Amino acid sequence: MSDTYPIPPHGGTLVDLVASPNDAGNLSAEAANLPKLVVNERELSDLEMLAVGALSPLTGFQGEDDYHAVLENMHLANGLPWAIPVVLSVTDDDLHRVGTSDAIALCSADGAAPLAILRVTGQFKRDKQKEAVSVYRTEDLEHPGVKAMSEGGDSCIAGELEVMALPSHDDFVNYRLTPAQTRQSFQERGWKAIVGFQTRNPIHRAHEYIQKCALEIVDGLLVHPLVGATKADDVPPEVRMQCYEALFAGYYPKDRAMISVFPAAMRYAGPREAIWHAIARKNYGCTHFIVGRDHAGVGSYYGTYDAQKIFEEFEPGELGIMPLKFEHSFWCNKCEGMGSPKTCPHEAEDRVSLSGTKVREMLAAGERPPQEFSRPEVADILIAAMQS
Ligand SMILES: [Zn+2]
Repeated sequence: MSDTYPIPPHGGTLVDLVASPNDAGNLSAEAANLPKLVVNERELSDLEMLAVGALSPLTGFQGEDDYHAVLENMHLANGLPWAIPVVLSVTDDDLHRVGTSDAIALCSADGAAPLAILRVTGQFKRDKQKEAVSVYRTEDLEHPGVKAMSEGGDSCIAGELEVMALPSHDDFVNYRLTPAQTRQSFQERGWKAIVGFQTRNPIHRAHEYIQKCALEIVDGLLVHPLVGATKADDVPPEVRMQCYEALFAGYYPKDRAMISVFPAAMRYAGPREAIWHAIARKNYGCTHFIVGRDHAGVGSYYGTYDAQKIFEEFEPGELGIMPLKFEHSFWCNKCEGMGSPKTCPHEAEDRVSLSGTKVREMLAAGERPPQEFSRPEVADILIAAMQS
């Protein structure tokens, strides 16, 4: 199996920071004598992403040069595109406690044994105002990404990671493929062109349609739901997964589509996150990436197509993965099929279009949205979840 099939990872090398069992034993013994730092849920997701190479070429939490380079011009200090900093924030108290150590044991909040050793290369002040404006395009603390960042410590510790164990999960165990494993799956299926689909929502007809439009021009589809932290009012991942499974059972070709989970936490950074999501999917082996309307957006912080326009800020080929940009789509009664403003010439009243609020109201009342909007199997799962 080649780590470069079917597409080279970002920066050329697929990173794997997980130590062999033998080395892990030695690292665990060393970690027992190191100062410990508990990382929060979001940074634990980043640690997992780093460990398995989803954030290749990064090999640890970023330092000050990369941090500012990413904020200022969406590139690492070495010139490689990168859209959102991946940093380990620490409070002043923690910084005083561990600040002079050249190695720190990183732990999850569950009190289990340390997961990784961070070989410290530096520490720096987190410029939260600059980060908010650059990454999130707002300083509004109502923005969930800005809020999460603001609640973290005011400093960052940078360093290389050596990972003894990945964070443990008891959910989606059959769907937790690493980038090396998705690449291997693609190779086994003979897929050379693969489109990735990011989602943090149930999939209704509109998203099914754009996935299938994309699949028409490639060999395979990777539905890659994000299962790290999201905001409280998003549909929980276990409910979403039931929806995806129902769709796959009834409507997707088994030899052309697969599901795996994306362990990242959601930033809601809109355009910047679209770039970050695309680069990560390249590491998972995707050659193409779907960018719909308001990708990774929240509220009204971003323009509907900002997440598509931002791809034009990079040189052709610089990102190494092809964005496939889609407008919002719908069922049209006159076309008698799915379409978008690009393909359907009819009026709004001919189109089956429901607001998110309206859909939630219907589901909460135990009512299926029209089947032109949502597959009945998906609607029934969401109704059951809202009523339990
Ligand atoms: Zn039409």
